[in-house]
Amino acid sequence: MERLHADVCVVGAGFAGLAAALQLTRAGCDVVVLEARDRVGGRVWNREMADGTVVSAGGTWLGRGQERMFRLCRDMGLDVYPQYDQGDHILRLDGQNRRYRGAAPHAGPVALAALGLAMLRLNLMARRLPPGEPWRAGGARAWDARTLGQWIGEPLNVPSATARTLLHSAFGVLFCVDPAEVSLLGSLVLARGGGGFGYYTDSRRTETHLVDGGAPELARRMAGRLGDAVRPGCAVRQITENVYDVEVRSDELAVRAQRVIVATPPVLAGRIAFDPPLPVAHAQLRQRLVPGAIIRVHTTYPAPFWRGRGLSGQTLAPQSPVAVTIDQTPRSGRPGVLSSYAFGTAALKVARLAPERRRQMWLEALAERFGPEALEPLAYLETDWSAQPWSLGGMIAHFPPGALTGYGEALREPVGRIHWAGTESATLMHGLMEGAVRSGERAATEVLAVLAPSRRPVARR
Ligand SMILES: Cc1cc2nc3c(=O)[nH]c(=O)nc-3n(C[C@H](O)[C@H](O)[C@H](O)COP(=O)(O)OP(=O)(O)OC[C@H]3O[C@@H](n4cnc5c(N)ncnc54)[C@H](O)[C@@H]3O)c2cc1C
Repeated sequence: MERLHADVCVVGAGFAGLAAALQLTRAGCDVVVLEARDRVGGRVWNREMADGTVVSAGGTWLGRGQERMFRLCRDMGLDVYPQYDQGDHILRLDGQNRRYRGAAPHAGPVALAALGLAMLRLNLMARRLPPGEPWRAGGARAWDARTLGQWIGEPLNVPSATARTLLHSAFGVLFCVDPAEVSLLGSLVLARGGGGFGYYTDSRRTETHLVDGGAPELARRMAGRLGDAVRPGCAVRQITENVYDVEVRSDELAVRAQRVIVATPPVLAGRIAFDPPLPVAHAQLRQRLVPGAIIRVHTTYPAPFWRGRGLSGQTLAPQSPVAVTIDQTPRSGRPGVLSSYAFGTAALKVARLAPERRRQMWLEALAERFGPEALEPLAYLETDWSAQPWSLGGMIAHFPPGALTGYGEALREPVGRIHWAGTESATLMHGLMEGAVRSGERAATEVLAVLAPSRRPVARR
């Protein structure tokens, strides 16, 4: 077995781990990053389609407030370009396509008023959460004992059946599970960190830009700056701590370090064997924070034909297994790329279909919104994030009832020499690439503050 020594070992080369490693390296630390996959980026992933088009199959869009991501793009020499947002969006409801513009679909005045009121109430509740410590909010226990699904389902909270259907679908999209699985308090954490739920449900705020070459190219360039310090193909199995240091072991490599930053999705951190075992709250929390299910399909066409018909490519279809579509055409404008998604229970059902049946169902769902041209793509590519062993789902892990008030303090609290990063631990832009970067930088700052004086590095200029 190969043995290495470092000041800090980082587990996971997603944006959180890479951001932590870059900050530590800049401060003069010796860092080793162990990554289970044979590539960096984690939940961001560039895939090549059968027609040669490369598509970003995980985290893709940058939006307002993703300051660190925009800055990293600049630092790494990557351009961003605006998301195509001309033309009408489509809301497909009860078998009918309704065109609309802006954030709110044409669901009728009663439903729109109910939607607005429900969002306002949820945002006001979210504002009551102390940043980073939602479990301390007045009413936190009651909110954590209920699910978001229960709250939406009560006519007193959302006095319109259509608005309830739309909210149920919007939150199902966000969390990739039925809102009945999400703690009301846990859902508010997302709103708190994004300045309101509107941030996540309004594509004009969340999906303003794409990275030229894809967000995974940014991760690749960050890893490039770290050079040989990044070791792909090293799944960490065990972390053993003693009074002097910590040993981080994969099958082929053992790293002795002063500190370790675990920057994996929480549920995968829970599968590492810790010696001594983690405190109960830390272990239990990491068993509870599981990601939902999401299948993303990319289809390419000679050109983005929907644009010529005055359509943006963005559609919502709460009653269809393919709940959302969005235009992901590259900057050059060719080929036309549609990105479409099944979330939560719909994704689980779709995953059970035979591949040919699934493809046919999927293309028919696109054709209902875009016409028969959608049935004949140049290429079709599925990405089922639940089938990815080093993600186990997407887009993010959600807080189930009781997790935050019972175990929330263990989210970021270090255990001896072990520190935690990952988008789920972010207090701002939780769940997004920006949250991942912020969490990595927070963990690196924590480590720099406590590194043993004899090992504390001198900052490099
Ligand atoms: C389909 C999809 C669409 C999304 N769309 C957007 C979007 O448009 N905009 C946006 O901002 N965000 C989006 N996101 C969310 C965004 O991608 C994530 O928030 C972010 O990439 C998470 O980064 P992370 O570093 O916290 O975790 P990860 O990216 O999951 O990185 C963790 C790393 O740890 C590795 N690992 C796990 N276990 C071990 C182990 N035992 N040993 C070693 N390594 C291990 C994993 O392989 C992985 O590389 C999307 C996510 C998905 C899946």
